[in-house]
Amino acid sequence: MRALSAPAVSASAIVVTGVLLQIACLDLEGVLVPEIWLEFSKRTGIPELSRTTRDEPDYDKLMKGRLGILEQHQLGLPDIQAVISEMGPLTGAREFIDWLRERFQVVILSDTFYEFAMPLMRQLGHPTLLCHKLAVDEKGVVRDYKLRQPDAKRASVKAFKSLHFKVIAAGDSYNDTAMLGEAHAGILFCPPDSVIREFPQFPVTRNYEELGVAFVAANRRI
Ligand SMILES: [Mg+2]
Repeated sequence: MRALSAPAVSASAIVVTGVLLQIACLDLEGVLVPEIWLEFSKRTGIPELSRTTRDEPDYDKLMKGRLGILEQHQLGLPDIQAVISEMGPLTGAREFIDWLRERFQVVILSDTFYEFAMPLMRQLGHPTLLCHKLAVDEKGVVRDYKLRQPDAKRASVKAFKSLHFKVIAAGDSYNDTAMLGEAHAGILFCPPDSVIREFPQFPVTRNYEELGVAFVAANRRI
């Protein structure tokens, strides 16, 4: 993945067009950081943790299974966070998000959990993150998870629209398509071929430079 090499819009253009008034909603995993469970599975050497929604469509069953595996391996939240903090964002992600935040109000909409994402958010300069929460006991054992609300990414975009913001959203996978469809403009970033085929209405970008250009183009359009 290439780093963003040059801004696609000049500083004077930003002031003239009022770009900062628009909200940019970004997915987290697969856009700014690796897939957390897949990477965590690799780093801990626990292959069962690499199961995703593609293998188990019942999200509750999948999450309960993951929590059971963590307990079985006696991995508490501090151990999990230590592994996650070693992951780091994707190459060029920090530069991209810094670039984007100078031009838009950036909000990250993710289906991950605050407790997992925070070590990575530090490395991204603490952008605003809306995601879900874990229930952790006093010994650091992850007991349960709490979804903020069903279909949270789309609901967030809807809420921003109700506040009269224009929204441009970008994500990489199926769990982003409702958010992309709800936004005034949606952009795919490094998506799998199946998503490209099923959602031909969204432009496809394959590196941060293309994504930046797509945000600027969308901003002119909406
Ligand atoms: Mg993703």
